[in-house]
Amino acid sequence: MSVTVVGSVALDTVETPWGRNEEGLGGAATFFSLAAANYTTVHLVGVVGADFPKQHIELLQKKSINLDGLERAAGKTFRWSGRYHDDVNMRDTLDTQLNVFEQFHPKLPADARKSKYLFLGNIHPALQLEVLDQAEPAFVALDTMNLWINIQLEELKKVLARVDAIIINDSEVRDLTGHRNLVKGAAAVRALGPRVVVIKKGEHGCLLFHEGEFFSAPALPLENVVDPTGAGDTFAGGFMGYLSQQDATDFSTLKRAVVHGSVVASFTCEKFGPDRLMEIGPGDIRTRYEQFERLSAF
Ligand code: AMP
Repeated sequence: MSVTVVGSVALDTVETPWGRNEEGLGGAATFFSLAAANYTTVHLVGVVGADFPKQHIELLQKKSINLDGLERAAGKTFRWSGRYHDDVNMRDTLDTQLNVFEQFHPKLPADARKSKYLFLGNIHPALQLEVLDQAEPAFVALDTMNLWINIQLEELKKVLARVDAIIINDSEVRDLTGHRNLVKGAAAVRALGPRVVVIKKGEHGCLLFHEGEFFSAPALPLENVVDPTGAGDTFAGGFMGYLSQQDATDFSTLKRAVVHGSVVASFTCEKFGPDRLMEIGPGDIRTRYEQFERLSAF
């Protein structure tokens, strides 16, 4: 079984109250892939520039991520920079340089087209539609952001009509539907297409809505949050990786998948960029999954 992800591969400069990480490996597809690779075969589709360090490629290859769909274009790699507040739930984006991403049109290699599971990372909805036209996966999940909701709503609605699941944060639900109440918001999102709605609430965990049922998973209370960048994409990687590994999308598998998403996301926050994700393996995931079970059983 395998999962294909299309999204950004970046060089991130991040400042948090604990320090600064200059031009480190980042990007939504990177975090997603490193998380999902703990569960299944991952095909990464994206683009980097000529300046993208060779050692980052080697790190991704070491995690057995298939990079046949990672284009190397002339020009500079996508760059993003952000600064976190003392309350690390809050961050300001300081700079976004699209660079090679500006001309990017995703091309899925043959094996990536065959994946039964597909994740559309947070890219322009028109590009997400281009991806959907190249494959016929059994289960597609989507991420988006306030920017696309605000400036590309009609295009985004076309994508929503064609996906099975959306993984979205609480403020995006409000922007997309106008509902502050997340139960009403989730119902309004489902009316746009996806039958599965996962709402992330940062350190307060997440909600899963599926047909008439819903489920709430906590986030692990962490003592050391060093850098939450990529936690959302890591969550999506754990979620989709687990579904692909189990090859099932019934409610009970979906519930375990959101817990796996929360488990891998909790690791991401403990070090800068994907550093902590690089260190962990299935044994660490199992131990923390059991911690989650104890945390939420009563
Ligand atoms: P998250 O913390 O889950 O929102 O993910 C942050 C990651 O998304 C960083 O590694 C960035 O490189 C990447 N990113 C930020 N803005 C964009 C954007 N406009 N398009 C694609 N990727 C982005």
